[in-house]
Amino acid sequence: MAATILIVEDEHAVARGIQYALQQEGYDVGVARSGEEGLEIATREAPDLVVLDVRLPGIDGFEVLRRVRAAGAKMPILVLTARDDEVDKVIGLELGADDYLTKPFGLRELLSRIKALLRRSYGDLADAAGGRVVRHRDLVIDLERRRVQRGARRISLTPTEFEILRHLASRPGRVYTRGELLELLRDYEALDQDEKTINVHVSHLREKIEDDPASPAFVLTVRGVGYAFAER
Ligand code: CA
Repeated sequence: MAATILIVEDEHAVARGIQYALQQEGYDVGVARSGEEGLEIATREAPDLVVLDVRLPGIDGFEVLRRVRAAGAKMPILVLTARDDEVDKVIGLELGADDYLTKPFGLRELLSRIKALLRRSYGDLADAAGGRVVRHRDLVIDLERRRVQRGARRISLTPTEFEILRHLASRPGRVYTRGELLELLRDYEALDQDEKTINVHVSHLREKIEDDPASPAFVLTVRGVGYAFAER
């Protein structure tokens, strides 16, 4: 699972340059060419990270940033500015930008900022733009070897339990509805089950990985919505 990145930039050449560089690194990259489109994709698809230019036709980057945060989206956002007064605004308004770069910038600098933001937000998963191992406290999930440990203790999960954990832990904080999880598992198992099945699998999963399944520290219930893996 490569990290997904959305670039919101109307200047074609700039957007393409960034997109190409990120794709070379293995990221899954989308481009939006206006503020409206960027806002729509950022809130609907919840990419792992957004690169947001301030100067856009229609609603500008500041407004996109404000509205994305107002919609409750928490992914890291790196803002591209062109002038010092824009930098002042990014910092001064506290709109929820995680980092900024002033144009012109080098792609290498942008890449290193992006990697740092992904690492800060998602932990080791983001290290190789696709991540192999997720760590949260002493819980270690090796996605390739399909191995789960608490400290040195190996935990044996059923394939379904592992898949649920894998999806949740790949994007800490992202809330998955039961329907969504069921849909994701359909590829994996011939499930003609209803959403309550998910509750059963989650409860078994918790018994195996949580210290206190009644008060989970990893797989959290989001009441009335579904489940989410704990953010750091
Ligand atoms: Ca622009």
